[in-house]
Amino acid sequence: MNEKILIVEDNKTLAKLIARKLQTSLDMEIDVAYSLQEAKLFLSRGHYFITLLDINLPDAPNGEIVDYVIAKKNRAIVLSGNIDKEFRKSMLNKNIVDYVNKGGVNDIEYIVHTIQRLRRNQRHKVLVVDDSMVFRKQMQNILENLFFDVITVAHGEEALGMLSVKQDISLVITDYNMPVMDGLELTLKIRETYTKDELCILALSGNDDDEVSALFLKHGANDYIKKPFSKEEFSCRVNNSIEALENIQKITQYANRDYLTGLYNRRYFYQSVGEYIEYIKESGEQCAIAMIDIDHFKKVNDTYGHDIGDKVIVSLADILRSGTSPNDVVARFGGEEFCIVLKNINRYSTVEILERLRESVESFTLEINEQTIVKFTISIGAVLHDPAETLDDSVNAADMLLYKAKNSGRNRLVFQES
Ligand code: GH3
Ligand code: MG
Ligand code: MG
Repeated sequence: MNEKILIVEDNKTLAKLIARKLQTSLDMEIDVAYSLQEAKLFLSRGHYFITLLDINLPDAPNGEIVDYVIAKKNRAIVLSGNIDKEFRKSMLNKNIVDYVNKGGVNDIEYIVHTIQRLRRNQRHKVLVVDDSMVFRKQMQNILENLFFDVITVAHGEEALGMLSVKQDISLVITDYNMPVMDGLELTLKIRETYTKDELCILALSGNDDDEVSALFLKHGANDYIKKPFSKEEFSCRVNNSIEALENIQKITQYANRDYLTGLYNRRYFYQSVGEYIEYIKESGEQCAIAMIDIDHFKKVNDTYGHDIGDKVIVSLADILRSGTSPNDVVARFGGEEFCIVLKNINRYSTVEILERLRESVESFTLEINEQTIVKFTISIGAVLHDPAETLDDSVNAADMLLYKAKNSGRNRLVFQES
């Protein structure tokens, strides 16, 4: 993907200052032009992720650069010292991403933050629900300009249909009055399936229905905008909602995962596998639980140091993750001890998969440098989970077999006798 930035600014000191700041904060290539003429040359050579445009250039004193850049299908953030309200409005009416002041340290921080936001927006899908085609189109334009992946539908029922086939929608923007199913009912229905932490809802409605905003918020909308709204307010509220969602997901990630390997931690393992085991009690599905521990790991630490020890742990995590199915649970219980749950499996496949993992580790080499390679092995204890027993029972049983594997020579799998 082409992720370059073009700065067009005739004040060379300021242009360099912005370029330097962006360079250190974002890993992106930056071109700087000091006039419209130079900018044209850069733009003829390729496309930019975003352009930052001064509207007062020696050869383009009235913002001509903005129309030029947009006509070339590049996105634009307008930089201005001009805070004249009418002028600002006329700029915002063009299809620009944002209008920002320039010069101050905070202004440059804001630009960096905005670009980071835009890059992350590419990962988010937004569903726009409105019966007015004009509004739908308008919102779609603004959102696509902010790099969102946009889907539009005309009423609540269509929205629910879309949500059931596309699982990865981050934000639903819904109008209130719509045929078939209105926005309030849609909000209620969405909240039966998705919490505020999984998907945000931004509601829109006309000025005259005052209690509607409160109703929307009580029914589970994250935010509310009154129509008619400015493009700027709309963009800010959308970005805020998405940012809140990302922050919650980040916190959840920290709480559920082990920082070194990115695998699930012990706490999350018990929560998630506990639920799964309850669920399969009725269906009769079988699962296997395996405890895994690196052999003589102390020696690895003592010989190569703790940092290399950490690399060994990360390598093992990768082998375990890539050698199992995405539905299986792989967790780091602590130190060099891991636990795996193989879902929907029988004895035969359990042995096959775990043996393959053991062999993959045995044949793996971690290259430290040209002179040094590190090799290691693992021991595994495993059981098929008995639905009459608890998760703890099965984990303990697997742990006992792991102990047996260690005592009978290591680098082996000991599986529960049938
Ligand atoms: P065995 O084959 O019996 O399992 O021998 P072992 O040396 O692996 O035995 P033990 O489980 O007693 O040793 C584990 C060592 O792992 C002790 C500890 O210092 C080290 N360790 C625990 N957590 C980490 C970690 O996060 N990083 C590194 N590098 N070492 C760790
Ligand atoms: Mg060990
Ligand atoms: Mg250990």
